[in-house]
Amino acid sequence: MRYGDDRQRHDHALLRPSPRAPTCRLVPTGSWGAVSRFDCVVIGGGAAGLWCAITAARRGRQVAVLDHAERLGKKILISGGGRCNFTNLHAGPENYLSDNPHFCRSALARFTPEDFLEAIREHGIAYHEKKLGQLFCDGSAKQIVAMLLAECAAAGVTIMTSCRIDQVVRSPDDGFSIITSLGVIAGGRLVVATGGLSIPQTGASDFGYRIARQFGLPIIAPEPALVPLTMPSQEQLDELSGVSADSEVDAGGQAFREHLLFTHRGLSGPAILQASSYWRPGSVLSIDLLPGHDLSRLLTAARAHGKLLVSSAIGDLLPKRLVQRWLGRNGGDRPVATLSDQAIAALHAAFHSWQATPAGSEGYRTAEVTRGGVDTRALSSQTMEARDLPGLHFIGEVVDVTGWLGGYNFQWAWASGNAAGLAV
Ligand SMILES: Cc1cc2nc3c(=O)[nH]c(=O)nc-3n(C[C@H](O)[C@H](O)[C@H](O)COP(=O)(O)OP(=O)(O)OC[C@H]3O[C@@H](n4cnc5c(N)ncnc54)[C@H](O)[C@@H]3O)c2cc1C
Repeated sequence: MRYGDDRQRHDHALLRPSPRAPTCRLVPTGSWGAVSRFDCVVIGGGAAGLWCAITAARRGRQVAVLDHAERLGKKILISGGGRCNFTNLHAGPENYLSDNPHFCRSALARFTPEDFLEAIREHGIAYHEKKLGQLFCDGSAKQIVAMLLAECAAAGVTIMTSCRIDQVVRSPDDGFSIITSLGVIAGGRLVVATGGLSIPQTGASDFGYRIARQFGLPIIAPEPALVPLTMPSQEQLDELSGVSADSEVDAGGQAFREHLLFTHRGLSGPAILQASSYWRPGSVLSIDLLPGHDLSRLLTAARAHGKLLVSSAIGDLLPKRLVQRWLGRNGGDRPVATLSDQAIAALHAAFHSWQATPAGSEGYRTAEVTRGGVDTRALSSQTMEARDLPGLHFIGEVVDVTGWLGGYNFQWAWASGNAAGLAV
């Protein structure tokens, strides 16, 4: 099987380390046919791949990380608005979606947010909790990438960037030969850490899924997740573009209370991004635009106040544009005193349980993660190794384990990288 269609680069002179990891071991490629041998080869130098490489190399393994990008950790650099929400203090199995929900338990239990914080503190990276256990760098996501590369260098990991992978073959010794634009790299173990399909500009590719298929592992269909949703044009919500409100969004029984943002094409904001991971095309989102309030009670009590308009009665609870638009869709603004019990019940439903049917999602262009991936039933939850193919491991986002918004995806990357790194 050939993979050579992505990222054409022809640098056979040197296996180049990232410029930020100058002390990593350099390996001259020689000509085609010369083989560089490692105990373990990691394909993909993102969060999961680098943490796996560090863990394995600290155990004395000879490790190489191959990546087709010219520099590593691009997703880390753009994460958390440039400050990288690198973990969540409350990360637990209930914060992850998977066809096989218990799979992530073992890795998460064996590598906790506190374990990652140890490294953060050792490197003197200042951080803060923004909300809900979400930890961000005070400074920049660059500090996380610099820390990972420094740890790779200290542990003697060989890093090869701008490395196009053409072919992966099982060698007769039960190891793997990886035919690359930089030469043939052999590894006793192969760890696939190539991530999902989100944000193609960062170097995202379907490589991991193709490798899984090549070796007969099943895939749970990948879909964009943590993604803004589009609304049908007849809903005419574009005039609310830029309006945001506290809300509770329920998708398939999983509810999230956070901000919702109206966009010119639909809905976004943390509440919608979270719900998008659970939303399926054609299904309905139930949205409470006044969580924590009881509109029926409020309007019933306000009926005593003469000419008070509904918009004035709830004007302090929601942005004005949203109130006007919502009343416009639901009988218009009027004096509260004129509302029948039925009308109050209808307004209660309109604000507390708006039934929204998105037309679709904004897709991988803006999705923060990819849901689905390598079916975990084919992997060991202890080692991330393919059950039927010893020596082949899958970690990070390429696996069918998808975290909520808020640092959970990086925690999965570190934890699954740790699990494989201890086993290879
Ligand atoms: C905009 C944005 C913001 C985010 N913010 C956060 C956040 O704040 N907190 C959080 O927890 N999560 C966040 N995420 C999600 C998080 O970035 C990912 O879940 C995480 O990076 C996955 O790590 P990974 O190592 O599995 O994959 P990746 O980080 O995607 O790394 C995969 C690596 O594999 C390489 N690769 C891909 N294909 C090939 C190939 N064919 N050959 C060779 N190499 C290849 C890529 O170049 C890349 O370096 C964010 C995602 C996005 C897009």
